[in-house]
Amino acid sequence: AARSGGDTVRAYLPTMGQVFLRRFQLVTQFRHALESGQVKVHYQPKVALPSRQVIGVEALVRWRHPEFGRLDPDEFVPAVEAAGLVDALTGFVMDQSLIRVRKWLDRGLRIAAAVNLSVRSLDDPHFPDRVAEALARHDVPPELLTLELTESGVMADPQRALPVLRRLHTLGVTLAVDDFGTGYSSLAYLRQLPVDEVKIDKSFVLGMGTDLGDLAVVRSIVELGHSLGLTVVAEGVEDDAARDQLASMGCDVAQGYLISRPLSESRLEAWLQARTT
Ligand code: C2E
Ligand code: CA
Ligand code: CA
Ligand code: CA
Repeated sequence: AARSGGDTVRAYLPTMGQVFLRRFQLVTQFRHALESGQVKVHYQPKVALPSRQVIGVEALVRWRHPEFGRLDPDEFVPAVEAAGLVDALTGFVMDQSLIRVRKWLDRGLRIAAAVNLSVRSLDDPHFPDRVAEALARHDVPPELLTLELTESGVMADPQRALPVLRRLHTLGVTLAVDDFGTGYSSLAYLRQLPVDEVKIDKSFVLGMGTDLGDLAVVRSIVELGHSLGLTVVAEGVEDDAARDQLASMGCDVAQGYLISRPLSESRLEAWLQARTT
């Protein structure tokens, strides 16, 4: 679409060439963006059900681009992954998140941080060492770090992911399968992977109030997840009805706009202050 303040070329719909150009620009500018503070981590609270106690946050990256404005991760993370730069992103998000967890611990709060991984990290045999090093450097116990991997990423080639997943699990960090239900794997297959948590994809949670099929999917993920000893998290919780229904099913954790949108560091602190005092 047209962008304000651009040259005449940008007054027209972007051509394929422009789409590639923008992608190329984003990739070449990414490291500088990380170093110059254009990239920021926002945090979305996760609460236990039924207590509504804050038990964690999910780190979600944002890029305030000087030309393109605010970019959501879906617009640049795939390009960053394809360019082989995702380690820099993961390292940055993990550091920022562990700094927060350490600050909370110093105030007597045990709040975990969840970081989204690219499946590409599982191809890197040194990745678990970097996670261990970051935990040690920030003096954070491993159980306060959750690593989220998408179902489609892990299940595409579970045998390939397994060695790195095992080593991460040995460190004591929590491993979560994200966007669960959107792939074609069976929950029973999860049993073969060293995971601790399953996150029901928000499409089912958003639909369960009006669609009996979505409701059935949510219910069966909660039941089977529990039968496998997993913590079950629902994302996309937007209203009281969804939260209450999830609580009555026994879902362990809720995340979504009802509780809070993803917040900047300072807004999160204000939100927590209001919540925990
Ligand atoms: P995700 O991991 O599934 O994250 C959840 C997305 O749902 C977030 O979008 C969040 O803002 C949104 N969301 C949260 N609550 C609600 C709700 O109640 N209703 C609705 N409709 N949406 C809700 P966001 O922040 O745009 O992130 C999109 C995706 O980008 C993430 O999906 C994740 O896969 C990826 N991502 C974000 N940060 C990172 C990162 O640091 N590294 C990597 N590799 N990927 C990231
Ligand atoms: Ca996630
Ligand atoms: Ca998700
Ligand atoms: Ca997603």
